[in-house]
Formats: sequence, C-alpha cells, structure tokens
Amino acid sequence: FASGDQKDLVIIGGGPGGYVAAIKAGQMGFNVACVEGRGRLGGTCLNVGCIPSKALLASSHLMHEIQKNAEHHGIIVDGARLDIDKMMAQKDKAVDGLTKGIEGLFKKYKVEYVKGWGKLAGKGQVDVALLDGGSSTISTKNIIIATGSEVSPLPGLTIDEERIVSSTGALALKEVPKRLVVIGGGYIGLEMGSVWERLGSEVSVVEYGPAIVPTMDGEVRKAFERSLKKQGFKFKLNTKVTGATVEGDIVKLTVEPAKGGESETIEADVVLVSAGRRPYYEGLGLESVGVQLDKRGRIQVDKRFQTTADDVYAIGDVIDGPMLAHKAEEDGVACVENLAGKAGHVNYNTVPSIVYTHPEVASVGQTEEQVKAEGHEYKVGKFAFMANSRARSVDDTEGMVKFIADKKTDKILGVHIMGPNAGELIHECVVAMEYGASSEDIARTCHGHPTLSEAVKEAAMACYDKPIHS
Ligand code: FAD
Repeated sequence: FASGDQKDLVIIGGGPGGYVAAIKAGQMGFNVACVEGRGRLGGTCLNVGCIPSKALLASSHLMHEIQKNAEHHGIIVDGARLDIDKMMAQKDKAVDGLTKGIEGLFKKYKVEYVKGWGKLAGKGQVDVALLDGGSSTISTKNIIIATGSEVSPLPGLTIDEERIVSSTGALALKEVPKRLVVIGGGYIGLEMGSVWERLGSEVSVVEYGPAIVPTMDGEVRKAFERSLKKQGFKFKLNTKVTGATVEGDIVKLTVEPAKGGESETIEADVVLVSAGRRPYYEGLGLESVGVQLDKRGRIQVDKRFQTTADDVYAIGDVIDGPMLAHKAEEDGVACVENLAGKAGHVNYNTVPSIVYTHPEVASVGQTEEQVKAEGHEYKVGKFAFMANSRARSVDDTEGMVKFIADKKTDKILGVHIMGPNAGELIHECVVAMEYGASSEDIARTCHGHPTLSEAVKEAAMACYDKPIHS
C-alpha cells in the first residue's frame, strides 16, 4: 500500500458486502481499497458459511441418494462408504478456488487488497494492523464498514470447536458424531444437522421458541418439520439450554422448559451452538468517530447506508435487515452507487430466503400469518409437487408451492416453496414481485414442460383461478 495517496473509498471487511462493494467501486472508477483481516477474501459466507455448507450438503446428499434411493432407481451400489477427509478436501477446494477468484477480480478492477485489521482513526482515516507485521494509516474520502457478524454466544456454554462447536466447527468435524445436538432451530442449524444426519448422526434440535425457523410461513413450516422428522430429526421445542459440561468424549447438556421447570440432562458427542448471529464491530473504534448503534445493537444507517458519522457508511450483516449474503451484496452495490451520485436502492421486502435442506424451502415476501395480522384481504393458491410431471419423473415429489395475493388487485404478496430446487424456483417470483406483478401474470406466462417451474405456474393459476393439473 502506497501511503500518502488518498483513496476515494476504503472498505473495512472483505465479505460478500465488502468485496462486492469494492468491485463495484473499482468498476465505477473509484480509487478503492478493501481491508480484510482473516487473510482470505469472501468473509463468513465463502470461508465458513454459505459455500462450505453447500459443498457438504451436496456431498452428503449424494451419499444419501446412493445409500437410500439408488436402489429404488434400479441402481445397486455395494459397499458405499464415507472418506470424510476427501469430502472435506472437496469442500476446501471449492472455497479456495472461489477466494482466489475474488483476488483475481480485485486485480482486474484495480481494487487495492490490504491484508490486516482496520480501525477507524478519526475523520477520513483508517489504521490497519497489517497481518505481516507493522501498521499503516490510509486516508480516504469515504469509508464503508462491512465487518459482518459472529456467532451469538450462549451463557453457560464454551465453544471449543471440537465437542461444543459453532457452525465453523460443524463444517470441519473429523468424524461423524453418533449423537449431534443442535441448539437453535434456524436455517444454519437445520442445514448442518442435515449434513451430519445424512452421514449417520442421530440429530436432535433443541429450540427455545415454540417452532423451528419462526420466520417461515406456518403451513409450509409444518410440512417442513414433518419432513425433517421423517428423515430422523428429533425436535425439543420450548426448551432452554442452561449449561454444558464436557466429560471425556461426551457433552452433557442441561435443559429445562423455556417457561421454567424441572431440568434434565441430554448427552451428545457433539453439540452445535447455532442460536443466532450478532453484528461484529469489535475493536473498530466506532465511538471515536461518532458511529451510533440502533436499539438492537446494529450499526444505525439511513436509506443511503450512511451512519451517524460523516462519510462513514455501513452494509451487510452489521446493519438492519436479513443476515444473508445476497442482501449484503445488494447493500454493497447500492451504497457505492449512492456514493457515485446514482440512485442505489435495496428492497428488503423482496430479499428471498432459502433453506438448503432436502427438500429445500424458499420464500419471498410475506407469510400468511403476516398478511392476516395486517388485516389484509388476501387469497391463497397452492400446488403440490406430487402433481407435477417433472417431480414425478425424477421421483422427488415432496412439497408444494404457495402463492399469497391481494384479494382485490391480485398483486403477489408472498410466495413460499418447499420442494426440489425451491431455491432456484423462487427467483421468478422475486422478479415478479419486484415488478409488482399479479398471480395472473405468472399464471399466463408460458413455462417449459416438463419442468418443476410448472408447479409455480400452476400455484399462480390456483391463486387467480384454477390450476389445470389438480
Ligand atoms: P461477513 O461475511 O461476515 O464478512 C465480514 C468480513 O469482515 C470478515 O471476513 C471479517 O474477517 C472482516 N472483518 C471484520 N472486522 C474487520 C476489521 N476490523 N478489519 C478487517 N476486516 C474485518 N447467507 C446466505 O445468503 N446464504 C446461505 O446459504 C448462507 N449460509 C450460511 C451458513 C453458515 C454456516 C453461516 C455462518 C452463515 C451463512 N449465511 C448464508 C450468512 C452469510 O454468511 C452472511 O449473511 C454474509 O457473510 C454477510 O456478509 P457481510 O459481508 O456482511 O459479512
């Protein structure tokens, strides 16, 4: 880094929020630097989140298909067994390739990659403790904070990443635990639980609230919970974890009813703590420049992502909104566009959320419970994958598509899909909602045959009139 040269923009954090903002800024001609302390670009998502989890979900799904479904298709596989080191190596290869890819894009778009931990050091100044020793001060016109999030700790539990693990440890276990207890029934816990369940673990989920994935549409969630139970998941809802002790190779968890009552002990070989994530800004010196937090401890920003300090912006998991990689990316692009004098904007109402279990669950917009609570007059259209020809031909028929639309105008308010490739199917609904479409718009759009997407069309038909195949 050539000190003395003033940057237009310094971004602290090289996750999906920060690195995307950096590339966008490079593309728009900014003199930009991105400071990242973990020694690799891509943040939580690429290194210990979205990407490695999807790699293990794919590998473990393959194992499950070979062991449980191949025979049904007339394919007899004898002696399939797990080489866990190879499975982990394939995951690491995917992560490595992608992080190097971002470094390549930084070079292409002339983004300066500063390896070190950044700190706000007065107006227009960022101090960096460089990873290879020493420090550097960068002066800049604007700063974007994109420092992401970290696992929320649970009182009474110490994460050692061996017996009591966070998602990071759960992505790198050295052997398949016989009994895995997952604390927290959110999407991260269910995805990691699925990986190990498919590889042979007995998985129990302990959840404080009355339901898993509380943000999910209630009807879809019930079907999802049923499906996971069929796969072998056990759920202990309304239950509070109060402590854990490691005794030799065993973890003893103490739990009690959420409302209080008699406690009991659950034994596990590995305990995964996935009871949420919290914004991360440790040692960043927010107070030194007057960056304030909101009531929930996130960095407070306005519609332009500007914090309470001049020329300091924040994006991604560290601010309000869903803690998702694609949301962080959209924040990054919009924030940089605003800095360039354009009209950057992110519509948080159309950020899709996807659970990459099998079946997948994907949704956009409002749930039926939310629409009802608002007193909105609405209608619902549903279509089961059982009646979809592609799902039948590939023998993957569990789940449904559910549309919720305004009763009078037919404008789509939400779509919820549980089923094969739900995470891909949801995007036509996201586009439709971005354009303010009605369910009739999707119902009248020609969809290729035979595709799973036809189930989306038929659910839209069910919402506005009648489906053909049901
Ligand atoms: P981060 O990705 O957390 O990046 C922040 C970066 O800033 C980090 O690399 C950190 O080292 C760096 N940093 C922090 N402080 C400093 C500093 N002072 N100086 C320099 N660098 C600093 N989201 C999805 O959309 N889809 C998924 O499938 C998905 N799966 C997930 C699975 C798991 C197991 C986990 C844990 C998360 C998953 N997420 C998923 C969430 C996703 O990872 C986050 O929403 C996303 O990474 C947020 O991006 P970000 O850029 O805001 O922050």
